Amino acid sequence: MRDDDAITRTMLLIHEVPAARELEPAQRTGEVCLWCSTPAAGREMVDLGCVGDGYTPHACASCRRARIRSLRTYFTWANHWELCADCPSGQLCSDGDRLRLAHLDARQMAGKTPPVCAGCKQIISWARRSAPVVFEGMSGVYLTYRHVTDCQRSARRAP
Ligand SMILES: [Zn+2]
Ligand SMILES: [Zn+2]
Ligand SMILES: [Zn+2]
Repeated sequence: MRDDDAITRTMLLIHEVPAARELEPAQRTGEVCLWCSTPAAGREMVDLGCVGDGYTPHACASCRRARIRSLRTYFTWANHWELCADCPSGQLCSDGDRLRLAHLDARQMAGKTPPVCAGCKQIISWARRSAPVVFEGMSGVYLTYRHVTDCQRSARRAP
């Protein structure tokens, strides 16, 4: 996956570009970076592709690179979970842990909000063990997270 290939462009549009209604007008028209809101004037901006109806998001090259890195580290981590004999059983291996931290770091560097557990809706701290869960819902694919152990959702159910 190169930075400028069609798969990367599509993945960014699906997973990193919010719906137009969530954005300010200047973000929708590409006058400022979609992600960091820095004005485009005089700077090198990347066209993320027309999303339709006057929505033409642009981003700084550095924001775009950071978002791509966040996506790639998520998929590398999720692929590991599919193939690893240990992680899905709860015995997180050292590779899995390294990939988890690499993704959390990339996500933070991209300026994204901390990940939230799909089970208990709490923010997942770096110290807690967590798993990537690619969720295929009715309206699309979502890259979600879950606590591996001690999720508060199950704790709250306990008497
Ligand atoms: Zn930016
Ligand atoms: Zn593993
Ligand atoms: Zn949880």
